[in-house]
Amino acid sequence: MRIRTLTGGLAAALVLSCPALTGPAAAVPSARTAQPLAAAGRVLTYDARAAAEFASAVDRGAAIWNASVAGVELRPAASGERADIRIVADDGWPRSLPDSLGRGTVYIGRQAVDQGHSTIRIAAHELGHMLGLPDRKPGPCSSLMSGASAGTSCTNAYPSAAEKAQVEKNFEGALTGALM
Ligand SMILES: [Zn+2]
Repeated sequence: MRIRTLTGGLAAALVLSCPALTGPAAAVPSARTAQPLAAAGRVLTYDARAAAEFASAVDRGAAIWNASVAGVELRPAASGERADIRIVADDGWPRSLPDSLGRGTVYIGRQAVDQGHSTIRIAAHELGHMLGLPDRKPGPCSSLMSGASAGTSCTNAYPSAAEKAQVEKNFEGALTGALM
C-alpha cells in the first residue's frame, strides 16, 4: 500500500515536470516527430477583439512577423479560445505587459496615434515586445524596436535583420525547452 502510494506520487511528479508529454506529440516521442514541430515553430494566438479601430493594424503587424521569422507564428485565436496575447485599444501611450515570452497584454494607445505615429508600426513594435524584444531607443527607422524615437515620419513596420535573429533565438530556446 505504501509502495503503491509512492509510485503514484512519482508518476504524478514526472507528468508535472514535463507538461510537453501530455501533448499529442508525446504519443510517439521520437526525433522524427519532433523535427517537423521544430521546423513549423511555435504558434501564439492573439485576440484583437478589444483592439477596436486598430484590429486591422494588429493583423498586419502579426502578418509582418509571420513573414519575417520561422520560429514562431502569430495566429488569431478562435472564438472562445483563450489567447496567449490580448490586444486592447486605449487612450494612453502604446505599451506591452508581457507575463512571459509570448504571453501578455498589448495596449495600442491612441496617444501615439494622435501624434501621428503609424498604427501598423506601433502594432508590430508592441508584438515585438511580446516576442521578447526590448526597446532600442533612440534608434533609426530601420529598427522596429526604436519605436517612437524614429519620429512620426517613420512608417517602417518590419523588424531589422538583428531583431529577426533575436526572435528566432528567443523561440529556438523556448521550443527546445518545451520539447525537453
Ligand atoms: Zn516599446
